[in-house]
Amino acid sequence: MKTYTIKQNQIPNNDSYDVIVVGGGPAGITSALSAAREGAKTLLVEGTSALGGMSTTGLVTSWCPFSDREKIIYRGLAEKILKLSNQGLPHVKPDALDWVAINPEYLKTVYDDLMNEAGVDVLFNTMLSKVETDGKRVDAVILSNKAGLTAYQASVYVDTTGDADLVAFAGGAFMKGDDWDGEMQSATHCFILSNVDDFGFNHGPWLNKANKQSPGYKIKDSDKYPLIEDAHMCAKLLGPGTVGFNAGHIKNVDNTDPISNSKAYMTGRKIAREIRDGLKEFFPEAFGNSFLANTATLMGIRESRRIIGDYILTVEDYAERRTFEDEICRNSYFLDIHHPKDDEDPARQAYYERMKLVKHYKKGESHGIPYRCLIPESFDNVLVAGRSISVERIVQGSVRVMPVALAMGEAAGMAAAIAAKQKTTVRSIDVTHLRARLVEEGVYLL
Ligand SMILES: Cc1cc2nc3c(=O)[nH]c(=O)nc-3n(C[C@H](O)[C@H](O)[C@H](O)COP(=O)(O)OP(=O)(O)OC[C@H]3O[C@@H](n4cnc5c(N)ncnc54)[C@H](O)[C@@H]3O)c2cc1C
Repeated sequence: MKTYTIKQNQIPNNDSYDVIVVGGGPAGITSALSAAREGAKTLLVEGTSALGGMSTTGLVTSWCPFSDREKIIYRGLAEKILKLSNQGLPHVKPDALDWVAINPEYLKTVYDDLMNEAGVDVLFNTMLSKVETDGKRVDAVILSNKAGLTAYQASVYVDTTGDADLVAFAGGAFMKGDDWDGEMQSATHCFILSNVDDFGFNHGPWLNKANKQSPGYKIKDSDKYPLIEDAHMCAKLLGPGTVGFNAGHIKNVDNTDPISNSKAYMTGRKIAREIRDGLKEFFPEAFGNSFLANTATLMGIRESRRIIGDYILTVEDYAERRTFEDEICRNSYFLDIHHPKDDEDPARQAYYERMKLVKHYKKGESHGIPYRCLIPESFDNVLVAGRSISVERIVQGSVRVMPVALAMGEAAGMAAAIAAKQKTTVRSIDVTHLRARLVEEGVYLL
């Protein structure tokens, strides 16, 4: 393949930072807030025009549970953000914890305010495009935006892109998909319907595939809606006459392949239209006059790259509810994998059988996430938080959700700030001190 050298001078920004966080989703938000709270001069880089990732721009309808059904376990900044988020929904109790709806426009402003209060510099509409390395250190990130290409430097970088872009662009080691053919979970393009009849919605059938009476099954079985292959439908009342949907599946989307990603949006928009039309047909009491108000600007990607870190969290760790000396948060969410392939291959079958054995925890149970899962083995001054940390694929089905991303982000940001201040590597910091600081800030650890 022919290659080109960029002749344009890359202009180092006058400002260099203690910590640069790339990716402004749930993990990036708490990373940046936490780093700034520790006194680090912090830059947060986001590809879209708002903070929140899947919690806002991606239109995910609700937070996965914050409790282990006995007590809240995602505390610290995560709990603070949940409480602020709840204020944007008049029909939601202020102290609601589990499967709480999200008002995405309100939440965007919550995040903006938090960044401004913390003194974090934010760059919107800015993509990480290249990474310069010097041995095991990342030296600079090249960002692309309306100013062209600009190099920024920091002592420590936090990769919260969800796809481990920074680690991958720097040439670091990662895994992707399963061990057989790289299969990844299906994507979903979330959307919002307005002009819904609230009474009809609240008193009609539960729109979830667990309810065999859900109209989703009729939509799936009708030949009028060819893109609807299953009854997957999570729907939440977000505001008056306004229902958010995490519904439908798009198979074989690779978010790290721009063509695949672009095609997914076109399919996703059609799926949203089909679901709206199907609900009008099969659930007219609620959706007879509904209007497709918005499809997400950010594709709903459940899975792509996972870094190879200093430790890879295993299914056995999850099954045995393991506690680690260096753990930085707890997690109790179930192993939620959309579409594990169920083919004849006995090895693959055995792999997924392991998942079935331990899929759900009992009340009060959780496992720890070690700090080592956030440290890419390839680098000394990079941390990763969010859905691309170092875990076995099945475990990613659990740790990928937003309360966990918020919790691990807080730890990553704090660790990055400590390493920057002490001018040391991310793996040389005193983890006992890190954990003690997290507990001081209200984080739940065993
Ligand atoms: C369809 C779907 C439904 C889900 N439902 C739920 C649910 O109900 N409840 C729940 O709690 N979780 C849910 N999840 C999981 C959850 O939303 C995500 O896994 C979670 O948001 C991961 O957080 P993150 O911060 O790692 O990544 P993301 O939320 O994906 O944020 C990553 C951010 O980085 C930015 N970015 C990416 N690459 C670059 C780059 N190169 N340069 C600059 N910026 C970049 C993106 O624009 C984005 O803002 C769902 C996920 C999907 C896909």
